[in-house]
Amino acid sequence: MEFLPFALPDIGEEEILEVSDSLRSGWITTGPKAKKFESDFTAFLGDPAVQSISVNSATSGLHLALEALGIGPGDEVVVPTYTFTATAEVVRYLGAKPIMVDVDANTFNICPERFSNAISEQTKAVIVVHFAGLACDMDAILSIAKKNNVKVVEDAAHALPTTYKGKLVGTLDSDFTVFSFYANKTMTTGEGGMVVTRNPELASRCRIMRLHGISRDAFDRYTSNKPAWFYEVVAPGYKYNMPDISAAIGIHQLRRLPEFHAKRVKMASFYKERLSGLPLELPPSAPSGDAHALHLYPVRIGHDAGLSRDKFIENMAALGVGCSVHFIPLHVHPYWRDTYKLAPSMFPVAHAIFEQEVTLPLYTKMTEKDLEKVVAAVKRVLGDA
Ligand SMILES: *Cc1c(COP(=O)(O)O)cnc(C)c1O
Repeated sequence: MEFLPFALPDIGEEEILEVSDSLRSGWITTGPKAKKFESDFTAFLGDPAVQSISVNSATSGLHLALEALGIGPGDEVVVPTYTFTATAEVVRYLGAKPIMVDVDANTFNICPERFSNAISEQTKAVIVVHFAGLACDMDAILSIAKKNNVKVVEDAAHALPTTYKGKLVGTLDSDFTVFSFYANKTMTTGEGGMVVTRNPELASRCRIMRLHGISRDAFDRYTSNKPAWFYEVVAPGYKYNMPDISAAIGIHQLRRLPEFHAKRVKMASFYKERLSGLPLELPPSAPSGDAHALHLYPVRIGHDAGLSRDKFIENMAALGVGCSVHFIPLHVHPYWRDTYKLAPSMFPVAHAIFEQEVTLPLYTKMTEKDLEKVVAAVKRVLGDA
């Protein structure tokens, strides 16, 4: 029996040829292709005021965003507990304290009311996560944040392309949006990310800190009469630039993104049609007129299903279907739990979701036969076939 993996990247001939072109050109690190990928990304978002800064991961991008916002020791940053550890670890990189809050039972996104209640004198920022690719309640979040002078960073690792009230995530009124091009995301560069902001000063700080704190702007401004080897370090920066080898993949993945998204939408509606009526809660759709990126297809095993989440995954694997769990919430991981004295009772909604959640495979390389196989396996595991 062939095993259906949980996720697979969709790499085409164009990506392969573009990478070969970089390898043959002699220019393999950040260069013309990274620059093109950035301008293509801004064009995709459709707002010329948006600056796109390519980086080697979304984690790096989130770190750069918080650094540019001046987050440091003594500051607090609110994050949902229902996320990947990267969302919170970048807060620790800067010596600040993440404040975990519970999520909404329907969308699994950060609960605006809980965010509001978590704000203290020390709160400098909030990082919201558009879980699975469904936008958070951004009107509520932005209004609470503005009222309290709290900066907003969107962890958009799942949200490409996602729209909120008709606008693409990346063009909303937050301070930063960060996308991920990790291998299993809606488009990939192997490893990579994009930091997006409309604030030129914040963008400039990210560009400097992305590459060792070398000020290109200062270089351009003051050194036109200096030789090419000259550069100036203006801060202890990081090594977060995206190499052209990765950008080469990204240029073509971005062009194919609308096609990828259309496929995901079709696959999700197939699941919705074929999996309804089972003791299974299916993921919410985007509000009418809006786009859900559908990075993940998270379902909730009903209490009436007669088996646990763990057993469900085990039985699916035995039938040749790989499933996953998104997420093991932060408050369950030893580091976060022990450092901040977190307990499940503090996050009743997220904890209940975690105990029932299974992510079914959904990626563009899946065939109709693969989808049928998943549906048949789910029905068999739930005793309906
Ligand atoms: C994948 C992911 C990240 C990290 O992305 P990388 O590009 O691997 O650094 C951050 N946040 C969330 C919610 C993710 O799913």
